[in-house]
Amino acid sequence: MRQIFVLEEQTVGKIAAGEVIERPASVVKELIENSIDAGSSHVVIELGNGGGDYIRITDDGSGISEDDVEVAFEKHATSKIRSIEDLASLRTLGFRGEALPSIAAVSRIELSTRHEREDFGTYLKIEGGVVKDRRKMTRGVGTTLEVKSLFYNLPARIGTIKSKSTELRHIVEVCITYAIIYPEIKFELLHEEKPILSTVGSGKMLDAIVNAYGRSVAKELIELKEPSLHPQHHATISGFISRPSVWYGTKKHLLTYVNRRFVRSEVMEKAIKRGYSSLLPKHAYPFAVISLSIDPGEINVNIHPTKREIRFYHADELFQFIADAVSATLRHADLIPEVVPHEKGTEAGAVHFLGLPREKKALISVQTSFQEEVKEEEVQANEAGSSLNIRFAPLYQVLDSYILAQSEEDDVIMIDQHAAAERINYERLVERYGGRIDKQTLLRPYIPQLSPHQLYVLRENEQVLRDMGFDIERLGDDSYVIRAMPVVFHGMVDEEEITEIIMRLVEESGKKEEQIKVLLSTAACKASIKAGEKLSYEYMRGLVEQLKTAKIPYTCPHGRPTMIRLSKKEIEKRFKRR
Ligand code: ADP
Ligand code: MG
Repeated sequence: MRQIFVLEEQTVGKIAAGEVIERPASVVKELIENSIDAGSSHVVIELGNGGGDYIRITDDGSGISEDDVEVAFEKHATSKIRSIEDLASLRTLGFRGEALPSIAAVSRIELSTRHEREDFGTYLKIEGGVVKDRRKMTRGVGTTLEVKSLFYNLPARIGTIKSKSTELRHIVEVCITYAIIYPEIKFELLHEEKPILSTVGSGKMLDAIVNAYGRSVAKELIELKEPSLHPQHHATISGFISRPSVWYGTKKHLLTYVNRRFVRSEVMEKAIKRGYSSLLPKHAYPFAVISLSIDPGEINVNIHPTKREIRFYHADELFQFIADAVSATLRHADLIPEVVPHEKGTEAGAVHFLGLPREKKALISVQTSFQEEVKEEEVQANEAGSSLNIRFAPLYQVLDSYILAQSEEDDVIMIDQHAAAERINYERLVERYGGRIDKQTLLRPYIPQLSPHQLYVLRENEQVLRDMGFDIERLGDDSYVIRAMPVVFHGMVDEEEITEIIMRLVEESGKKEEQIKVLLSTAACKASIKAGEKLSYEYMRGLVEQLKTAKIPYTCPHGRPTMIRLSKKEIEKRFKRR
């Protein structure tokens, strides 16, 4: 009995389309890419019902020649490459010739286009991949493509489409990712005739970021330092990263691009995180736009159906390159967060404009629970070279925990005494560490009380702890004896704390650098003055002096700020002197 049949061509087309076109936002992505590839300077995207009813995109690019209009909808038809070798020098976003046939297979399309070297345009109507109408027409150079009733012939897919607002949110995200990396193109997005996003097309990335996310986000960004050439691979990097006071619990706000293509790259994400090192809490991510340009021969873009993932042939070098750029930028920036209570009602930008779900609205969570409000003020993204100009007098202690000081610029600086001491001690320990952990024998061997789970974990990680400077030895079946511990803890931890430290080290097992960080930051914490302790002027002066010479004075090793600032300008405003 025959059970294997060759599928009809239409069915094959629909299956293939499903790989590229998942939801309305995928259509928007593909069409925007085509408009960009066509050299457009103005792209308008109009939608109805979250894109489900219609998606119309109009550009002023090169247009499609009348000889090519129908070919463009054939499978694997592209003007962008001729052979596989061309991938090594690819400069366009598209190259597979899959988007138009895929979209056409699952929707009703109307296209009107006029090529820059032709006097007339062409109108074409396609339903479910079949041409229904074709005419000559008059119109300006460029292309308008309208996709109606998406998935009308794929009932199963219609079912997977989410609510109008969810689909719209995905579309806004897609538009933003392109608008930011193509700031010379003016993008407009309208939903049911209401403007959602509009960029100025000035060519400046920061302008596009302001248009997309609003000024208050842009104000917290620092421009990446001078695009430095990566010697071996001709890579350059540019973009913006947020001050460490702005962070999120997800990687969602890491916009990483390679050759102006938005990609999800673990290498890049980890490199950004590494660049911040101890400036951010452990599971926190900044807002960052990182644009890497690199010889196309150094990457493979052809490993994912929607080209969202790429492979670097020299991932390790690039990791270091990006991490260095980020950390150098942070080292040279003025990172003291300003203390201005957040007031509502000044937000612009597409993301805020939408009645988006809560989670989206709280776009930036500032650690200090204060957020800057920005009105007309110019965004001064990069204040490179500014150093910590805190004066040694006067210094006051308030609430037994904070030092009030004054900067050379007459701003008021408030320093968290514990966090500042921690930072200073941490850097001192890091400097002294030099790759070796010295041990100190305990006067009295310590036998920790361990739960069965802790016992199990310890058994699996004995070596980790030995590498970290603990002398541990199994004592029978269900206990351990500790005879020595890292000298950095000498005289600072009690026996119970030893168990705690051991357990935290074990958590990081396999990540040597993280373990060292746990070790040194815990030791720094133990060695530091606590909140609630009264300080003399001399002590405060010493603290400020050392903080001024710290490498990263603005946060403690756990990522909390060591100081905040109230600008003189803001104080004057509050007292109505301005
Ligand atoms: P790809 O982008 O991978 O080449 P597509 O199916 O997206 O494949 O598009 C097929 C071809 O149609 C493109 O190579 C391009 O020549 C042409 N095309 C599509 N959209 C546009 C547009 N907006 N302006 C000019 N040409 C376009
Ligand atoms: Mg394309």
